[in-house]
Amino acid sequence: MSKKKLRQRSCIACRRLENWTDLIRTVLVNQQVIVDLNHRMLGRGAWLHRNCIKVAIERKAFNRSFNIEGEIKVDQLEDYLKNLSDY
Ligand SMILES: [Zn+2]
Repeated sequence: MSKKKLRQRSCIACRRLENWTDLIRTVLVNQQVIVDLNHRMLGRGAWLHRNCIKVAIERKAFNRSFNIEGEIKVDQLEDYLKNLSDY
């Protein structure tokens, strides 16, 4: 028997399938994209690579993924990613 496979998710920006451990889960709260570090938040999640945020914004991938129109704020996600790459 093969060992248990990790569940896969596709990145909302580049659409590549990855093990969910390699992606960041985000959810939408009040038009704001929030990082869901523990994967416990309710609601529809959008998964992406940490390097894919620019592409995601350019392609309005968050709008598509959360199925809403209008502006979505991503500053919190951007701050989070910025801190990640600073260490
Ligand atoms: Zn990606």
